[in-house]
Amino acid sequence: MKFDKEEWKKKLEERLLEKFSVSLKDASPFEIYRALGETVMSFIARDWYETKKEYSKTKQAFYFSSEFLMGRALGNNLINLGIDKEIQEFLKELEIDYNQIEDEEEDAALGNGGLGRLAACFMDSLATLNLPGQGYSIRYRNGIFNQYLRDGYQVEKPETWLKYGDVWSVMRPEDEVIVNFGNTSVRALPYDMPIIGYGTKNINTLRLWEAHSIVDLDLGVFNQQDYLHATQDKTLAEDISRVLYPNDSTDEGKKLRLRQQYFFVSASLQDIMKNFKKVHGREFSKIPEFIAIQLNDTHPVIAIPELMRILVDVEGVLWEDAWEIVKKTFSYTNHTILAEALEKWWIGLYQEVVPRIFQITEGIHNQFKNELAKLYPNDTDRQNRMQIIQGNMIHMAWLAIYGSHKVNGVAELHTEILKNRELKDWYELYPEKFLNKTNGITQRRWLLKSNPQLSSYITELIGDAWIKNLSELKKLEQFLDDEKVLNKIWDIKIEKKKELVEYLRETQGIDINPKSIFDVQVKRMHEYKRQLLNIFQVYNLYQQLKQNPNMDFTPTTYIYGAKAAPGYKVAKGIIRLINDVAQIVNGDDEIKDKLKVVFIENYRVTVAEKIFPAADISEQISTAGKEASGTGNMKFMLNGAITLGTLDGANVEIAKEAGEENEYIFGMRVEDIDELRKKGYDPRFPYNNITGLKQVVDALIDGSLSDLGSGIYREIHSLLMERGDQYFVLEDFEDYRRKQREINRDYKNKISWAKKMLKNIANAGKFSSDRTILEYANEIWDIKETKIK
Ligand code: PLP
Repeated sequence: MKFDKEEWKKKLEERLLEKFSVSLKDASPFEIYRALGETVMSFIARDWYETKKEYSKTKQAFYFSSEFLMGRALGNNLINLGIDKEIQEFLKELEIDYNQIEDEEEDAALGNGGLGRLAACFMDSLATLNLPGQGYSIRYRNGIFNQYLRDGYQVEKPETWLKYGDVWSVMRPEDEVIVNFGNTSVRALPYDMPIIGYGTKNINTLRLWEAHSIVDLDLGVFNQQDYLHATQDKTLAEDISRVLYPNDSTDEGKKLRLRQQYFFVSASLQDIMKNFKKVHGREFSKIPEFIAIQLNDTHPVIAIPELMRILVDVEGVLWEDAWEIVKKTFSYTNHTILAEALEKWWIGLYQEVVPRIFQITEGIHNQFKNELAKLYPNDTDRQNRMQIIQGNMIHMAWLAIYGSHKVNGVAELHTEILKNRELKDWYELYPEKFLNKTNGITQRRWLLKSNPQLSSYITELIGDAWIKNLSELKKLEQFLDDEKVLNKIWDIKIEKKKELVEYLRETQGIDINPKSIFDVQVKRMHEYKRQLLNIFQVYNLYQQLKQNPNMDFTPTTYIYGAKAAPGYKVAKGIIRLINDVAQIVNGDDEIKDKLKVVFIENYRVTVAEKIFPAADISEQISTAGKEASGTGNMKFMLNGAITLGTLDGANVEIAKEAGEENEYIFGMRVEDIDELRKKGYDPRFPYNNITGLKQVVDALIDGSLSDLGSGIYREIHSLLMERGDQYFVLEDFEDYRRKQREINRDYKNKISWAKKMLKNIANAGKFSSDRTILEYANEIWDIKETKIK
């Protein structure tokens, strides 16, 4: 977009006056933020309209996801429009601090973690690549909770991003639809968010549905002056889009959750069908030629029976014909192999909430049951394992695979595990449906925006084509032996570390040394991600430093950030444990210049943008076979952090791209775990034989550490010592500690370290979500670049 300073000034002044009756000189940061946002919206309006018009003529992909973890929009939008520097300069001339304006925006935190942030990165790539793709989800009034610490424990407070409305959404009442549940109906009101592509005029759309009651007040009850109950229906309806379920990798199984899923899926399909009919009339057999729908995990899988309902009940299509259309329209992404995350619904609840959808699901189940009986007449075990309804539970993943033409995992290892283990029966039946789509991240937000210093330097070295084609970074390899370049990327890292230090001083009053190694583990708190292994190592290190104060040691700061699901007691106990160790270590005068432990409160996209560029070490230490992909690992790599990780998820591909010698890979692999399980794993073996480990584990119960009486440390101790340590924390401890020592030694050699950094940056090209999205577009959706003029 061309930037005309006078025009912007005029627009901004007009908006401030119209909206807030204030002059530019007297406007508050919030008012300026709002006016800036509205000005951007007015400038993109025409292109947005043109994009929609153009897309309606062609095949489109619709990304159904219960989560979109978008973060802030202002900075990203300005960057993608190519006017960020101009706006910053312009505000500076007016003596307005751009950072202060940016800080007025709350994160749109409509997601839990990786899955939701993936959806957000995909939106950016679709728009940048001029691909006709639209997101659909729920406009939760409260996103993921805000996290605070009290006595080292997590406390949750509601998130309120819509408190003052949202400048980036446009309400579209003309597209409102009614969603019918068994005993009630609700209005689904759409809000559209523009998704601005980088360096293109195309503006894509994320459509979020808000739930409303069809009646505002029950007049009968109102007239009897029972005002409280007169609003009951309204409240019940609005509850549907009130709050995001704060679970990551666990199945909630609640009635409201099912209502949320059906609500957004039904509204989205009605919307898609309305637009389809406008162009193609009743030629429903053409649906797969013009519509592709991606189901992001099982949360939106109820779309399969819902599209059947629309085609059969509403449009009068024959069941068999409708099923052919459905199968060719949907594709499904599996995100996990954790048993506790596989979504199942109790038929009683499903029947109560969506009775017609239950009948249709039963119909699909019976149809598949008959197919199975013919396919495997002599294998009733297999038939039973693959039933969609088993006992009184509906298996959403099975419904998804049966009703989709493609099924993908999110990293090579993950897809292999699906094919050979978790979904083996299904892969044997439908080998042609399975494929891999390794996750990716958008380099626009995660390098260009979050690390302007490194971005400019890369551009200085190899030009700016990497912004749209990340594999260009490979050209940086020509500088691997150039000490000037290596020194410069080291200096940029130090600068980013100083910025993080400043942020932590301001927000949490913590003081850390930017010259220490920043060893970072930020992600959701979960046993399989093994923050416990990390803090055990730190506690052991602390004891070593106490015993041996003259030990050769590079000062290190261990940085954590993680939200725990509010009902996940063990995860909350580990947060307390980290803070407990932090208090001991940071409070010890003998130690404080060597070792620091920091827990960053309220980890979210906006904080993540400050953390990734400042990290030296990226901790990706999940138990092998448990992390489907990870995307945080890719953001660290792109910013020059070295991975300390297990061969799990996309770590395998990161090590392959950059060379295993440029990462710190440790621990058991999937095969080793199988073997150990077969042999019989006894955690008492490492506990008794690895020096220092017993002392660390026992600290949980011998009074060295304190959970303040909650009993959670004893629970953690018992999970390890009595209940089999199912994540192999103790088994992997020694190898992990060995790698930590290597890092501590290697970091002293600045040039060889910087070379590792550069190797990682130069080989991060594969992990652009542009690459991922092009693969989906070509191999699953069959959509084509559609550029507006
Ligand atoms: N939360 C936020 C804010 C993120 O940016 C990311 C990924 O980058 C995640 C969670 C997921 O992290 P991971 O892939 O390490 O689980």
